Amino acid sequence: MLGAHLDSWHAGTGATDNATGVAVCMEAVRILRALDLQPRRTIRVALWTGEEQGLLGSRAYVADHFGTSARACETDDPRKAERDAFSVYFNLDTGTGRIRGLFLQGNEPARAFFRPWLAPVRDLGVATLTLASSGGSDHIPFDAAGLPAFEFAQDMIEYNTRTHHSSLDLYDRAVADDLKQASVVMAAFIHNAANTDEKVPRKPLEAETLKPPVSVAE
Ligand SMILES: [Zn+2]
Repeated sequence: MLGAHLDSWHAGTGATDNATGVAVCMEAVRILRALDLQPRRTIRVALWTGEEQGLLGSRAYVADHFGTSARACETDDPRKAERDAFSVYFNLDTGTGRIRGLFLQGNEPARAFFRPWLAPVRDLGVATLTLASSGGSDHIPFDAAGLPAFEFAQDMIEYNTRTHHSSLDLYDRAVADDLKQASVVMAAFIHNAANTDEKVPRKPLEAETLKPPVSVAE
């Protein structure tokens, strides 16, 4: 899965928070369609609502489809099959800037898994796999439920200084070339995720008892 959120803050139209993320997701799957690639796994795009009100859309989706933890999803639970089939969710919600890497949310096994994926995009400036966590967006409910879910690290451009939740978050703040780069990187990651033999490794089960707080949305 890949996703971004459609809702925005009231002061502007929400160009960088988070229409740019939505546009990158749509362009990434358009690229895969244009190349007529046939993925081995289903690729699902989620354009969330209610993110700014507390990740409402993604939280409800995770609860409906996967359960909020493995223990909440016993063998007779119809969500168990979907939970077992799930591989990974990639989120893009830090404005218009280029993708530089991935926040791994403390998932050490994922680092070795993703490292080979960086080689073909390294010349686009993507080089970082950090164990650090990124909070405040729609990957958090997946991560809290014990499912691999990651936010891309991006160039901040004017996100914190100017556009985030401000009256200046308008169309002219979107940087076209950076969004093209992000779309290519997103397409590459989704293509890889849909075609590897193994699913993206999950954190040890113990990690589910250490759920990160679901913070108010960015
Ligand atoms: Zn946002």
